[in-house]
Amino acid sequence: MDERARQDDLDAPRPLRLAVIGAGMAGILSAIKLGEAGFTDFTVYEKASSVGGTWRENTYPGLSCDVPSHLYSYSFALTPEWSHRYSPGPEIRAYFERVAREYDVMRSIRFGEEVTSCRFANGRWQIETARGHRDEVDAVIAATGVLHHPKLPDIDGMESFSGAMFHSARWDHSVALDGARLGIIGTGSTAVQMVSALVHRVARLSLFQRTAQWVMPQENPEFTEEEKAAFRADPAALLGLHADLSKMFGVFANGIVDAESPQMKMVQAACLANLEDNVRDPVLREKLRPSYRAACKRLVISPDFYDAIQQPNAALVTEGIERIEPRGVRTRDGRLHELDVLVLATGFKADAFMRPMRITGRGGMTLEQLWNPRPEAYLSISVPELPNFFMLNGPNGPVGNFSLIEVAELQLGYIMQLLERLRSGACREVSPTRTAMEAFEAEREAAIPKTVWVTGCRSWYLDDRGIPAVWPFTFDRFRDEMRAPAETAFEFR
Ligand code: NAP
Repeated sequence: MDERARQDDLDAPRPLRLAVIGAGMAGILSAIKLGEAGFTDFTVYEKASSVGGTWRENTYPGLSCDVPSHLYSYSFALTPEWSHRYSPGPEIRAYFERVAREYDVMRSIRFGEEVTSCRFANGRWQIETARGHRDEVDAVIAATGVLHHPKLPDIDGMESFSGAMFHSARWDHSVALDGARLGIIGTGSTAVQMVSALVHRVARLSLFQRTAQWVMPQENPEFTEEEKAAFRADPAALLGLHADLSKMFGVFANGIVDAESPQMKMVQAACLANLEDNVRDPVLREKLRPSYRAACKRLVISPDFYDAIQQPNAALVTEGIERIEPRGVRTRDGRLHELDVLVLATGFKADAFMRPMRITGRGGMTLEQLWNPRPEAYLSISVPELPNFFMLNGPNGPVGNFSLIEVAELQLGYIMQLLERLRSGACREVSPTRTAMEAFEAEREAAIPKTVWVTGCRSWYLDDRGIPAVWPFTFDRFRDEMRAPAETAFEFR
C-alpha cells in the first residue's frame, strides 16, 4: 500500500470488534457503556454461569458491602429500593443481575467461557477460551476483578482436618452451622462480618487472630418504607444522596494518602473510642488492640464485631497456630481447639489481576515478562507492550475504602476516549509509552511514604518490596487524570 492509500485507510472510521473479559460489576458496566456509545460488535466472556463477579463468588453468612449502597451503585442506575445503608451481599448480587437484564447486557455474554489466552498478532487480539472457542478482536477490556483468587494459608496438617474446611469465598452451604463448633482464621473485613453473623448460631466460635484490627463503628439502619417511597417519588433526591456520599468518600480518600491528615486522626480516634468504650474485659481489650495505626490495613467497618466477640460462646485465640489436626487447630501453647467447621478467611492473591490468563503482547512479550517482578500499568489502565488492551481496577489503582464502581466508571470514561481514537481511524494501535509508565511509577513510589499504609502494618496492599501497590494520590487527582488521556503519554500508531 502506498503512503497515500495507507493514510486514507488510517483516516477511515472503522467498526471495532471488542471483547470484555468478566461479567462482574466492571464487565456489566463496560457492556452498557459500549452499547450506549454505539459499539455493537462485542462479546463479554464470563467463566461462570451467571453475572455478579465477587458478589456471585462470595456467599458467606454476613456478607455485605461496607460502602453505602446508594454509593455502591452505578451512577446511571440508582435505585430507591436498597434495604439498608449497607445492604447485604445477596441484595447487591440481585442488583447487578437486574441491571444486566434491564440494560440488555445478557445477550452479549458468553457464559461458561473462561478466556485462557489473548495474543496480539497482526494488529488484533486473538482470544482463546478453555472450551476452545476462538475470537479475533480489535481491543480488549479486562474486567477481571481485584480480589478474586483465594489465598490459602500454608499451615502444617491442613489436609488432615476431619471436619469441613473451606475458604470464605468458596462457602460450602451444605455444611450445617447451627450448633457447630466453628473456627475462623483471619481478622479482615470478611472474618469480622462472619463473626457477627454466626456467633448466635453456632455452639462455639473460635476466632484465630494473627493480627488485631482497628474496627470503625458504623451503624447500619434499615431504610423505612417511607424513605424508599420518598426516593421513588424524587429521583433528584437519590442523585443528590449519591453525589453527597461520593463527596464524603472523596474527603476520606484524600485523607488516607496523608497519614497526618485530620481525616486519619478522626478515624484513629473513632476506632480507639470504639475499642475503649465497647470492650469490657481489659485482657480481651488488649488482645484486640492493634499495634499500628488505624487505616494502615484496609479499614474494617462493623457496628457489632466487639459485641459479637464478647459473647460467652466466642473466643479470641491469639496464641498462634502450630498446626491443624484431624480434630481441630493446635495453638503454640499446646492447646487443641476442637472444631467441626474451619473457615479460612485468609484473603486473596491481590496481585493476580487477570492472571492466570496467558497474555502475549507486541513482539511476543508475555504478561509474565512484563509483570516481572510485579504488576505495573500506566494509571492502572494500560501497559506499553499491550496495545488496545485496557484494564478496569488494574494494578496500583484506587482500591482503598471507596466505591470500586465509581473508580471503574471513571476509568471506563477514559478508556472510551481511547477506543474512540481507534474507531475514528485516527490510529490502529494505542498504548502508553514506557516513559509515561515509568514516570507514573516513580511519582507513585515517591508519594507512598506519606501514606497511612506504610505506618507499620502488614496488609494485602503491600507488594513484594513492602510498597503499597495502590493509588497514593488524592481521589481528586484520580478524577482529574481520568478526564482525558494525556496526548504525550500514549503512542498512537
Ligand atoms: P484480608 O483482609 O486479606 O485478611 C486476611 C486475614 O487472614 C488477615 O487477618 C490475616 O492475618 C489472616 N491470615 C492470612 N494467612 C494467615 C495464616 N497463615 N495464619 C493466620 N492468619 C492468617 O482478607 P479479607 O478479610 O477476605 O478481606 C480482603 C478484602 O476484601 C478487604 O480488605 C476488602 O477490601 C474486601 N472486602 C470487603 C468487604 C466489604 O464489606 N466491602 C467485605 C469483605 C472483604 P494478618 O493480618 O496477620 O496478615
